[in-house]
Amino acid sequence: MNTTYTPRAIAPDTLEQLRDTDDAGRPCVPYVDAEGGSPLRCCLRPVAPGERVALVSYAPLRRWARETGAAPGAYDEQGPVFIHAEPCEGPQGERAGYPFSRAGALRTVRRYDARGHIVGGRLMEIPEDEEQGFDGVFAEAFADPEVALVHVRAVEYGCFHFEVRRP
Ligand SMILES: [Zn+2]
Repeated sequence: MNTTYTPRAIAPDTLEQLRDTDDAGRPCVPYVDAEGGSPLRCCLRPVAPGERVALVSYAPLRRWARETGAAPGAYDEQGPVFIHAEPCEGPQGERAGYPFSRAGALRTVRRYDARGHIVGGRLMEIPEDEEQGFDGVFAEAFADPEVALVHVRAVEYGCFHFEVRRP
């Protein structure tokens, strides 16, 4: 069963660039993750033990703005994300719920308008019914006609998890 809103993985052309030089201008440094578990933003699933990955700096709002012509200015930011070190298949099959979701985990759900400016947000503790919880905060965000997209981030690390655009 698909969720009401579509969580977007990092686009393949962006991944290709990040595997060379990341959004902070650093070269990509692949390694084998023996333990696994970190959230892969290319495939929207956790790393499986033994996969080759890289931790790169990614600027989701800047990348979106290049597509749409928006000018986020000072709202632009970049942060660390895990990706596969080599070309990968992206999200596979039918999703059960939203990625990287775990009841009790804390998320920020930040709203942006069409210019790429922040227009509010909220802190969310993922409830027992994870899918309904996410659907609720996204419905709340997009009830504001100004909101064009939403970023979900982990609170503790501040890192970007995924983006949802206005359906
Ligand atoms: Zn991947």
